[in-house]
Amino acid sequence: MNCNQAELLVPACADGEVDALRSRAIREHLLSCAGCAARHENVLALRARIRAEVPYFVASSALHARVRATIGAIRASVPSKPRSRGDRWRWLTGGVLAGCAASVFAWMLGTTVLAWRAGEDFAVAAVAAHAHASLGNRLIEVASSDRHTVKPWLSARLDYSPPVEDLANEGFALVGGRLDYLERRNVATLVYRYGNHTIDVFVRPEAQQVPGSALRTMRGFNVAHSSGQGMDWLAVSDAEPAVLSAFVQRLARGNISQ
Ligand SMILES: [Zn+2]
Repeated sequence: MNCNQAELLVPACADGEVDALRSRAIREHLLSCAGCAARHENVLALRARIRAEVPYFVASSALHARVRATIGAIRASVPSKPRSRGDRWRWLTGGVLAGCAASVFAWMLGTTVLAWRAGEDFAVAAVAAHAHASLGNRLIEVASSDRHTVKPWLSARLDYSPPVEDLANEGFALVGGRLDYLERRNVATLVYRYGNHTIDVFVRPEAQQVPGSALRTMRGFNVAHSSGQGMDWLAVSDAEPAVLSAFVQRLARGNISQ
């Protein structure tokens, strides 16, 4: 067995869906190939994480009934005929391929769900930081409307340099910035004033993951997300959702004149 063959069968093997002969061939390959062994370990680890972390939803009896009815209708519409040896073989290989496809699909779904969760976790942490800073009156650590003051202050304390813009002429005045500690790393927070609302904008290098939904409400705050200029932008405020969403997209797009 070579790496190409093993790659296709590793997810199915991890799910115990490969016959004994091939399962043995894969196991032998895994012992001699560090790359495929690592891939196999990843699938097992991912499966464990999905079992532990992804919420379970029990299908309603109505859904059960609907699925059974659909399967019944499909069965009834396919004429049954005695199968030749060739047919049987085709069914068998079809089954194995379907099993592989299902495993790959489950893996992709699992990865997407975990990435979505990571995006959600960031939003939850950002809302908590916003609420905490508002309550403790610790919204601003560097008070300035000058991006040439705020940006170096933040850059000196971070391992990245967040783009900073004052959009006072568009109604969003930069009033300062601070550092927050979210998900085990320091994150730049830009503080803006819009009318009598305060908007916290959390800026971090763009993560390789699917963010949660672009706009939502958490603990009574509106949360809007966008990506741009290599950064993830997450705005938290009690300002109107439409305003917040447009603002965060404007920030992520950046200033063409800069
Ligand atoms: Zn290999």
